[in-house]
Amino acid sequence: MRVLGTPTITRTEQKMVKETAYYDILGVPPAASFEEIKRAFRRLALKYHPDKNPNAGEKFKQISKAYEILSDSRKRDLYDRGGESALKDGRCDRRGHYTSPMDIFSVFFGGGPRNGFRGDRRGKTVTHYLPVSLEDLYNGATRKLSLQKNVICPKCKGSGARHGGVVKCPKCHGTGVERHILGQMPGIMHSLQTTCSECHGVGEYIRSRDLCRVCSGRKVVREKKILTVHIDKGMKNRHKMTFHGEGDQSPGLHPGDVVIVLEQKEHPIFQRKGNDLVMKMEIGLADALCACRQKVQTLDRRTILITSQPGKVIQPGDIKCIPKEGMPVYRDPFEKGNLLIHFEVKFPDPGWIPVDNLKQLQELFPSRPRPTLPEDTEEVTLSSYDPHEAHKHGGRREVYEEDKEDESHHHSMQCQTS
Ligand SMILES: [Zn+2]
Ligand SMILES: [Zn+2]
Repeated sequence: MRVLGTPTITRTEQKMVKETAYYDILGVPPAASFEEIKRAFRRLALKYHPDKNPNAGEKFKQISKAYEILSDSRKRDLYDRGGESALKDGRCDRRGHYTSPMDIFSVFFGGGPRNGFRGDRRGKTVTHYLPVSLEDLYNGATRKLSLQKNVICPKCKGSGARHGGVVKCPKCHGTGVERHILGQMPGIMHSLQTTCSECHGVGEYIRSRDLCRVCSGRKVVREKKILTVHIDKGMKNRHKMTFHGEGDQSPGLHPGDVVIVLEQKEHPIFQRKGNDLVMKMEIGLADALCACRQKVQTLDRRTILITSQPGKVIQPGDIKCIPKEGMPVYRDPFEKGNLLIHFEVKFPDPGWIPVDNLKQLQELFPSRPRPTLPEDTEEVTLSSYDPHEAHKHGGRREVYEEDKEDESHHHSMQCQTS
C-alpha cells in the first residue's frame, strides 16, 4: 500500500545514470520522458510480439523487462542511481513492504492483480537453530523461545487505513494492472498488461491522513511470541520441528512456518553414534591387567561402576560395551543403545618400582624364551629418541662429533644419550 502521488522526476538532456542497458533495449536516451518510453515500448512490443514473431521470445522478454523497470518511476529511479544491482537489493520500498521479484510473463500474459488473496501463497519459512546439550537429548527438556514476528495490525485488521480510508486506484480500477492496446492486426488484437504505474500493482492506496495510527499503513505490527519447544528423549542432532503458521503474518498471505532445528553442543565425555554413546577411558596398567573398577557419571546423573572380571586383560585400544547405557531410542525411550568404552592404557612412569623389586615382578609374568647368543655378541643399551631433536642440525652434529671417534658407532647419529 502506498501513499498517493509518485514523485515526478524532472529530467534534463544530460541526465547521469549508472547503467543504460534498459534504455538501450528500448532505444531511448536516459533522459526520455515516460511518454517517449511508452511509445518506444509499443513500437518494439508490436514488432517482437510472440504472436507475430514466435522466434523473438527472448527479445520480447528483454523489451518487456526494460519497460517494466522504466515505466515505474520508483524502479526507474533505483535503476538510474544504482543500476541492475540496486534493483535487486532495493526490493523493499520505503515503507518496508516486500515486493516479490517481477515475473514478467505473469504480468504480461494473464497474471492477475497482485492484491488479491491467493490461496496458495505462503509467507517465508523462518528457521531458528536451538543449541541443546546431550543431556537435553537424553533426558528430554522443554525450552521457551521468544521470537519477534509480524502480525496483522489489530486496529485496522490489515487494511493499513482508518475506516473507509482505502481508495481504489483510479488508474487501474483496483486491478493492479494496466492494459495497453498496441494495435490491431487482421484477426488479432494486440494488447499487453503491465503493473499499474500509479499503485505499483497494489490496486488501492491510502491518503496519508487516513493511515492507520497503530501501524502507520504497514498493515502489520511487531509482536513478541513465545514458542514452547518440547525436546523428546532420544531426539537427534539436527532434528527439525515445524510450527505451522507461526511465521510472519502479511495481508493476503498464509503465514509461513517457523522451523526449529536442534543443534547438539559437543559433550566433554560422550560422543553419540546413532543410539550408542562412545567414550574414551584411560586406565592404569594394574587395572588393565588385574581388574578394572572405574566410575562413570551417566547423562541422567547416575553413577555407575564399571568393572571387569578379575584376570580379563584389557588391551590398549580395546572397545568394551555396557548394554543399555546408551541414548534412549526416540519415541521408544525405555529402549536404550549401548555405551561403548574405548580403552587407553597408561603405563607407569620410569622408576615407578625399585629396581630390587623387578625380579619379583618378573616372576609373576609368564616365562619368556631367552635368545641364544654367539660368543662375540656385543651388548648395546636403548637410548631415548626424539625425532624433533634429531632433525635439529646443531644437536645432531654434536652427537656426530662425539661418535666419530668410535668408528663402529658412526651410523647411530640420530640416537641421543640421555
Ligand atoms: Zn493498522
Ligand atoms: Zn493502479
